[in-house]
Amino acid sequence: MIRLFVSEALSVGQVINLTEKQHHYVLHVMRLKVGQSIFVFNGRDGLWQGVIEQLDKKVARVLVQDLVQKQTPLDGADLYMAVIKKEALDFVVQKAVELGVRSIHPVLCARSVVSKINQERLQQIAIEAAEQCERLNVPCLYPAVSLVQAVADLPVGQMLAFLNERGAQAGQLTRNQDVAFFVGPEGGFTPAEIQLMSSYPKAVSVHLGQTILRAETAAVAILSCYAFDIF
Ligand code: SAH
Repeated sequence: MIRLFVSEALSVGQVINLTEKQHHYVLHVMRLKVGQSIFVFNGRDGLWQGVIEQLDKKVARVLVQDLVQKQTPLDGADLYMAVIKKEALDFVVQKAVELGVRSIHPVLCARSVVSKINQERLQQIAIEAAEQCERLNVPCLYPAVSLVQAVADLPVGQMLAFLNERGAQAGQLTRNQDVAFFVGPEGGFTPAEIQLMSSYPKAVSVHLGQTILRAETAAVAILSCYAFDIF
């Protein structure tokens, strides 16, 4: 059944006006009819079954009826992803949501060839990925910050695991750790950036084998290892 992310609080009897995009989707893409059921979630109140109450050219309204699944907590690793080319970054955001990250932080690195992101667009990609993969929560997509800032703002006690194609694995990782994964841009991290991350109190250098992976491949690879506890 269709799942839609909504911003409103969810409870029995609540009526939700779908957004323009969702309206188009249910009316023209999925061709739903009044009386048909859909699922809605907001990342806070669990998964709810609702029924299309009104659907015409002007409005799409859903009447919320039953709680089908309790809210799951937002957990998992945090991804600090170097800002890379648009299509590749879109891909990383989508896959990171599917693979269970808690948050996504775009990071501006010395060798980033792109200097701006569209945070709202990326958040929308994260929402659509959550709807599609049946997650009940949506990772927050943060504004882009410099690597220096990102490291300085890391919560005390969190492990910083940076992916380094040129360095040996140093340190141990397990799924139970509160970890922030740092993936570099197309040109890799600079020696100064590696130095900065290595000097963080709880730093681990992660090596993913002899081949040099594209940044987006490296992100998917490490998040898959973490999701399935394979290190
Ligand atoms: N152009 C760089 C490669 C950058 S790859 C060079 O030739 O050195 C982009 C990012 O993906 C890297 O910064 C790193 O974070 C990650 N990465 C790619 N391959 C990796 C590997 N084998 N092990 C660990 N990280 C890797």
